[in-house]
Amino acid sequence: MQRIAIDMDEVIADFNPKHLRVFNSDYNENLTVNDLMGTRLRELRPQMKNEIIAYLNDPTFFRDLDVMKDSQEVIKELSEHFEVFITTAAMEFPSSFTAKYEWLKEHFPFLDEMNFVFCGDKSIIHADYLIDDNVRHFQRFKGQGILFTAPHNINETGYVRVNNWLEIREYFLR
Ligand SMILES: [Mg+2]
Repeated sequence: MQRIAIDMDEVIADFNPKHLRVFNSDYNENLTVNDLMGTRLRELRPQMKNEIIAYLNDPTFFRDLDVMKDSQEVIKELSEHFEVFITTAAMEFPSSFTAKYEWLKEHFPFLDEMNFVFCGDKSIIHADYLIDDNVRHFQRFKGQGILFTAPHNINETGYVRVNNWLEIREYFLR
């Protein structure tokens, strides 16, 4: 079976709405996902970079993110034809481990937790495909990178790109 490695944040976990919600509420701002097109919150408000990143060190931050639309159904289908691994660069935020693990168990109960990979540098991942919103993870990846559209990456070119989970279904199961 071929292997598909799948990122979490901004691919199966809807990171931005919550990040914006807590930031807007704490700093009396009104930013929306549209403001993040082609950029990131920390680039939009560089003077607040430390505060913006600090949210991600909260051990509960990642526990209640929404699930990306159609990802559960499509991953369930994919897992009948491929070996599916969830690969998250969790070392960036070590306090997120428990929340991320519990989130995966809650929303993707059909996946074996032995297929959860909490890693740092994703170039160690040996898979045929990597679905990720960060192009940096493709630089040294040996398989086929698939860029999942996220606000920050809309201007990236030169990658196989999918815009949603139905397009992933089409790519793999056509
Ligand atoms: Mg991501």
